[in-house]
Amino acid sequence: MIIKTKALVIKEYIVGESDKYVTLFTMDLGKIQAIAPKAKKYDNSLASGTQLFVYGEFMLVAYKDTYRLMNIEIISTFHELRNDLSILSYASYILEFVAEVAQEGPDNENLLGLTLMTLRTLVVNKLSIQLIRRIFELRALCILGFMPELDQCVECAGDLGNDQRSVYTFVCEAGGLMCEQCRASYPERLDLSFSTLYTMKYIMHTPIKQLFSFQVHSSILHDLETVCDLYIPFYIEKSFKTADFIKHIEA
Ligand SMILES: [Zn+2]
Repeated sequence: MIIKTKALVIKEYIVGESDKYVTLFTMDLGKIQAIAPKAKKYDNSLASGTQLFVYGEFMLVAYKDTYRLMNIEIISTFHELRNDLSILSYASYILEFVAEVAQEGPDNENLLGLTLMTLRTLVVNKLSIQLIRRIFELRALCILGFMPELDQCVECAGDLGNDQRSVYTFVCEAGGLMCEQCRASYPERLDLSFSTLYTMKYIMHTPIKQLFSFQVHSSILHDLETVCDLYIPFYIEKSFKTADFIKHIEA
């Protein structure tokens, strides 16, 4: 059976003399492996369509326990991402993150949509790449089912008030904000400002198309970085080579 689906190439690797394997993040099948016969050779039309970051309409057939690529109609190569090492390293991190967390199966439109929107925003290059990364991470965590509780105490559901001058206590391992009584038994906690919470809620709930439309003060970006750097290892339980590389080049 021939399957036609929109997909993004999130991983590529050569096998043997000339065959190429790719990991695709597809609209209809989720994350799948596919083989592109002889795609390593330049005279093959599959070669250009199986490079990292290519987004297109992929035609495939089920082949043993994987898929064989038949044809690719490229929609975007995102080639502009390769013009700048910083942007490329952030874009590579987005792909590595998605390659780790995406699953095979349906219901991946939101994560794929977020990924494409993030890559497009990196290409346009109008927002700080650090902020783009944190918006992506926080929204991806929500899509994956790890949305932090920011509206009430995550433990007792108690009211936390709505005071712009207050500092709110976030407990990563509990997955959200905590009231004064409940937080006493959690030594590792984080103080977040009202503005940071407002920004986090915006990232969690705004339609993906409008997600990358704001700037923040460096103190809020710093808070977002701290939250994501605690939250991701705790809930995703993976480390990312590209994130280490970013840390290295920014040090
Ligand atoms: Zn409580």
